Amino acid sequence: MALLQITEPGKAQDPHQRKRAAGIDLGTTNSLIASVRGGVTETLPDEAGEHLLPSVVRFTEGGTVVGLVAMQAAKEDPLNTIVSVKRMMGRGVEDIKGLGERLPYEFVSTEGGMVKLKTDAGEVSPVEVSAEILKTLVARGSETLAGNLDGVVITVPAYFDDAQRQATRDAARIAGLQVLRLLNEPTAAAVAYGLDTGHEGLVAVYDLGGGTFDISLLRLHTGVFEVVATGGDSALGGDDFDHRIAEWIIRESGYKDEVNPRQLRTLMMQARGIKEALSDADSTEVNVSVDGLEFSGQLTRTQMNELIADLVQQSIKACARSLRDAGDSVSKDSVSKDSFSKESVQNVVLVGGSTRVPAVRQAVTEFFGVEPLSDIDPDRVVAIGAAVQANILVGNKPEDEMLLLDVLPLSLGLETVGGLAEKVIQRNTAIPIARSQEFTTYKDGQTAMLIHVVQGERELVSDCRSLARFELRGIPPMVAGAARIEVNFQVDADGLLSVSAREATTGVNASVEVKPSYGLSEAEITDMLKASFDHAKDDIVARSLTEARVDATRVIEALQNALTEDGERLLQASDIELLQQAISVLQEVSETTDADAINEGVEMLGKASEEFAALRMDAAVRKAFAGHKLDELEESN
Ligand code: ADP
Ligand code: MG
Repeated sequence: MALLQITEPGKAQDPHQRKRAAGIDLGTTNSLIASVRGGVTETLPDEAGEHLLPSVVRFTEGGTVVGLVAMQAAKEDPLNTIVSVKRMMGRGVEDIKGLGERLPYEFVSTEGGMVKLKTDAGEVSPVEVSAEILKTLVARGSETLAGNLDGVVITVPAYFDDAQRQATRDAARIAGLQVLRLLNEPTAAAVAYGLDTGHEGLVAVYDLGGGTFDISLLRLHTGVFEVVATGGDSALGGDDFDHRIAEWIIRESGYKDEVNPRQLRTLMMQARGIKEALSDADSTEVNVSVDGLEFSGQLTRTQMNELIADLVQQSIKACARSLRDAGDSVSKDSVSKDSFSKESVQNVVLVGGSTRVPAVRQAVTEFFGVEPLSDIDPDRVVAIGAAVQANILVGNKPEDEMLLLDVLPLSLGLETVGGLAEKVIQRNTAIPIARSQEFTTYKDGQTAMLIHVVQGERELVSDCRSLARFELRGIPPMVAGAARIEVNFQVDADGLLSVSAREATTGVNASVEVKPSYGLSEAEITDMLKASFDHAKDDIVARSLTEARVDATRVIEALQNALTEDGERLLQASDIELLQQAISVLQEVSETTDADAINEGVEMLGKASEEFAALRMDAAVRKAFAGHKLDELEESN
């Protein structure tokens, strides 16, 4: 009998004070939910005891079904049964075309350019399909944990871009979930093994699933993972092993006719069983009989290893490539290229069902020269890591427990002329990170520059959060646009931002340190993000109006200065009058909110002053050729 636990007097913890948190692996083929209960992290099964939920949703007039039942209908009702929806998340019709004929659906393009699928239940977006999978998992979670979930961590591939991550968040919102964080899948796997609390160093996560292979290199310092490289092959997986075995059976059987689809399907299913059996046994029986294709015999593990050897090597080549990419990507910072040799990889984590194949394990071990971590079920390790994170983020762990902060929650940028926010580092960028961007002066002879650091997704500075202001002084006087000011943003492993600015010719510099995440709750971040989507259209309009006004002001000022300097010398009074009129016309248009009209006005003023500009140019050229004379003239004045 298990021992009952008794808490220390006065330290009793009300079980209802514990928050309910879960980790979700929203996978291409299978999805899972996991949670920490009584100090143990486990994946949660359905009523039938199944942990893996096939990521398949079937939409019919009668309703929606998810999982195994949906998958079983895929053959008879392919158009309404959505599989591999993850490949479509955050994608437009054009991107989807690249996926080839593997997806048989009827696609429709939406206003925003995102894709939708036609089904008997109407048009559905990939976000809605994913929401159905999430709802099914969460129902399972609330049942097991006896109550609604307070928060979840959802994993995404490390290579997911902003649109794909946003789509995942949207799916969670539709499913009524509070997302504590999106976590990179390889990071989650590393967390499941507790590597985040271990030594500093490189971790390789080797993920071989049914149809895809991903390799990720993570660098750990002070408890934070940075994704230094991702690679792999989106068309390499266990299915390819099955294919090789099926081909072998056809050869051995001596069957000479064309193999029909039914035969191939049967062969592939049998091959999968044979392959999985050979993960444990040295040899297995093969008995096939389908539509006149007959074979009875044995396949040994050694034979199978030969059949799949080149496929396994293909994955190893991708590992080598990623190490090279990692070296290239950081060769600019302080870390030297040598720190990305395979010897520098301290831990290798195995993820995905196909890493159960012994030949795969052996190849990985030989390549990296370390025994890979594989104690945790490779199908479940990602969900388990996500659950560990969710438990910490929801507040079930003491304060001092380390928080894994691996991406920037909001974009960081600078204020530019006209109150516009220029993003230097996009949100969701893995940290630590450093980015530089060049800016220039707006006015002739400008010797100082105000650097205003802002955070947020909106286009106007007034809608973003102000983080810090500092001045760069001592810029040598030059014409507007000639100075080159390099502004460097650096976010360290603790989320601490430092911004520095440096003028290229003189090397004058100034810098400031800010803590961007300080004082911002997850809810505020969500609000800010929501506002940026709600206002996306307004913001674009506001931005183009501001840009047009800035342009107008610039050309007006330039022309006025030119007129003051050279007007009387080079132009007739009537010409000056005309230009003054053109200026007031543009000034008036600038007061309106019609960006197009302002842009037209700018162009017209440019045309009107072309001749004057040409005259000034001539004069300047003459002046240059007659330099001496001019000097003498000036001296005599
Ligand atoms: P995905 O990441 O594509 O969703 P999984 O990680 O669930 O896929 O892996 C599915 C693949 O793992 C299938 O090709 C399956 O045959 C393979 N697999 C599962 N168990 C074993 C096993 N014991 N031996 C070999 N391969 C296995
Ligand atoms: Mg997987």
